[in-house]
Amino acid sequence: MDDVKKFVLDHKLGEILENKTFKDCTTLQVGGKIRFFYYPNSIESFLAFHKFYRPSGRPLFIIGAGSNVFASDADFEGVVVNFSKLPLKYYRIGDTFTCSPGCSVVRLSYDLARLGYTGGEFLSGIPATIGGAVYMNAGANGLEMKDILISAKLLSKDGVVRDYENSELGFGYRKSRLQEEGLIVLEAKLKFQKDESGDVLKRVKEMKEKRNKSQPVDQKCAGCTFQNPSGHSAWRLIDQIGFRGFKINNAQVSKKHCNFLINNGDAKSEDLLELIKRIQKNVKEQFNIDLKCEWVLVNFDNVSLF
Ligand SMILES: Cc1cc2nc3c(=O)[nH]c(=O)nc-3n(C[C@H](O)[C@H](O)[C@H](O)COP(=O)(O)OP(=O)(O)OC[C@H]3O[C@@H](n4cnc5c(N)ncnc54)[C@H](O)[C@@H]3O)c2cc1C
Repeated sequence: MDDVKKFVLDHKLGEILENKTFKDCTTLQVGGKIRFFYYPNSIESFLAFHKFYRPSGRPLFIIGAGSNVFASDADFEGVVVNFSKLPLKYYRIGDTFTCSPGCSVVRLSYDLARLGYTGGEFLSGIPATIGGAVYMNAGANGLEMKDILISAKLLSKDGVVRDYENSELGFGYRKSRLQEEGLIVLEAKLKFQKDESGDVLKRVKEMKEKRNKSQPVDQKCAGCTFQNPSGHSAWRLIDQIGFRGFKINNAQVSKKHCNFLINNGDAKSEDLLELIKRIQKNVKEQFNIDLKCEWVLVNFDNVSLF
């Protein structure tokens, strides 16, 4: 693995760290040590790194804001890449915003509001990067990334870069073609509309306030843990099985919102995993419904949460 560090440093491709853990780079704040954490200094640098690294077959994981990632307690013997240190966040031509993968969607939504653009208000409460939001087709308040995305420049596993139109990306509920094929977001073009009412910022603040009241946003969590099964709310099912506030060591079901599992101290990934399985088992037994975990699991062997 030391060849990776040497390659990045010799070719001045960015910063590479050896002392990071998933605990420090995810909002859930759990997970083991990471062998190399790489911040590319440009997309070209990342592509040069990718060309060098991929043939080795060693693990590669792209992390955004880490707000949907659940990593195991084991050490990760590979490279985690983060685009947040790319110098350009986004630029605008007309009503089209071309965004870098590491751009914060919260920051973008506030900038849009200040510039008098509507359509990005729903992003204000999602602590994501553009890359993670496109990959997950993140959404809130009735809108999803698929509703604002024009196209995305993506890198395939075998190193091919191409622009994909929205219609090619197979978007569904927290689902995209990117997940199936391991495509990496290098850039995304989003469209918004001018709004002269002067009310956009007010709407953003109202949405944020509503969210702060209903979700444990000040706690270590990774958003909703389970997808809503068709015709049901996951939080209600969890409440109905009596799990509101239920704990396994420091892994706990939030009392504020039952579909948020929180790290209430120094939880271990294995405690959270056990809690997820316990909820799934009880919901299945009582309602014959399979709850599908929405989190992205990293570095777990032979674990499937549907
Ligand atoms: C308090 C809180 C509230 C939340 N509310 C919502 C909500 O309302 N709606 C919602 O949909 N989600 C919500 N989430 C979950 C989370 O914010 C979203 O899933 C988000 O899209 C994850 O983005 P990220 O940048 O943090 O990605 P990460 O969590 O870092 O990664 C998620 C996945 O995206 C992949 N990924 C990241 N960057 C790239 C890239 N450049 N190219 C390819 N793949 C990439 C990762 O490999 C991983 O598989 C919430 C989370 C929290 C903590």
